[in-house]
Amino acid sequence: QAKEMGGGTFRFYSPDMNARLLERLLTESRLREAIGRGELVLYYQPRVSLVKERIVAIEALVRWDHPENGLMLPDDFIPIAEEIGLIEEIGRTVLMQACEQNKRWQQQGQDPVRVSVNISPRQLTQGDLPYLVRSVLEATGLAPQWLELEVTESGLMHNITAAQETLQQIRDLGVGISIDDFGTGYSSLNHLKRLPIDTLKIDKTFVRDLPFDSDDVSIVTATIALAKSMNLRVVAEGVRSVEQLYFLKDRECEEVQGYLFGLPVPAEQMEGVLMHPDSIIPLARK
Ligand code: C2E
Ligand code: MG
Ligand code: MG
Ligand code: MG
Repeated sequence: QAKEMGGGTFRFYSPDMNARLLERLLTESRLREAIGRGELVLYYQPRVSLVKERIVAIEALVRWDHPENGLMLPDDFIPIAEEIGLIEEIGRTVLMQACEQNKRWQQQGQDPVRVSVNISPRQLTQGDLPYLVRSVLEATGLAPQWLELEVTESGLMHNITAAQETLQQIRDLGVGISIDDFGTGYSSLNHLKRLPIDTLKIDKTFVRDLPFDSDDVSIVTATIALAKSMNLRVVAEGVRSVEQLYFLKDRECEEVQGYLFGLPVPAEQMEGVLMHPDSIIPLARK
């Protein structure tokens, strides 16, 4: 069979691998069309300030409303998009949608919140991200202080000098920058010091086993202290239990995000939460 398919390249593929290869090719071509068809949708998850006792930010999380597979999660298509050079285009639609949505909420009279958008490492090094951010803010009329970009450590460390410059230009616009999944990458504290960031998001793997795992207790306690000493806002991701919440409150972690306060939901549902935050805020007061 390998020969029939043209030999060479396909020689080592089993029929099963061929099937997977075909499926992958299909996914790629579907993904190329997905943007134009409006199949990329944003879900929103609230971030709560334990100090202000209110929703202060909302993270935009992309999903692909796939014609056959149903709702697909980013881990199943973002890496493919990066590989086939689609991530910049996806990044543009996501940023545009998120800013438009946030502006719409403000126009509805909701208490203003930051919308926080995940940025792929490629977007930092390729293309003109500061220009994109500026034009999206202009097009949507969203004021810069209501936008925050989330970048991962690994994305930054890959090309620290380029990242530093790009982020500085974005900071200069008045847009916030946070480090996502903090603790899972290899950022040196020296680099961290030089980057124009304002927020650290502690990765959810360190939060998961709080307050029982003593290593995680040390890591999270130290990270909160580090953030405070560097004048950075600190957010804990993946908060799912009140025990985790009490621990974080006790350590004076400023902001929390996780299933305890709400799953990622479509914009209309998020609107309900914004209008009736009393469904989640009492938790923050405990
Ligand atoms: P992330 O930025 O760290 O986002 C947090 C992830 O944790 C989300 O997964 C969210 O649904 C999930 N999560 C929230 N609360 C909890 C919790 O209490 N427990 C647990 N176990 N998980 C929780 P999601 O939506 O599947 O996104 C996965 C990753 O995909 C994101 O991680 C982000 O790195 C990436 N991503 C999402 N949207 C975009 C996007 O628009 N562009 C790019 N480039 N990447 C994106
Ligand atoms: Mg994120
Ligand atoms: Mg994260
Ligand atoms: Mg992540």
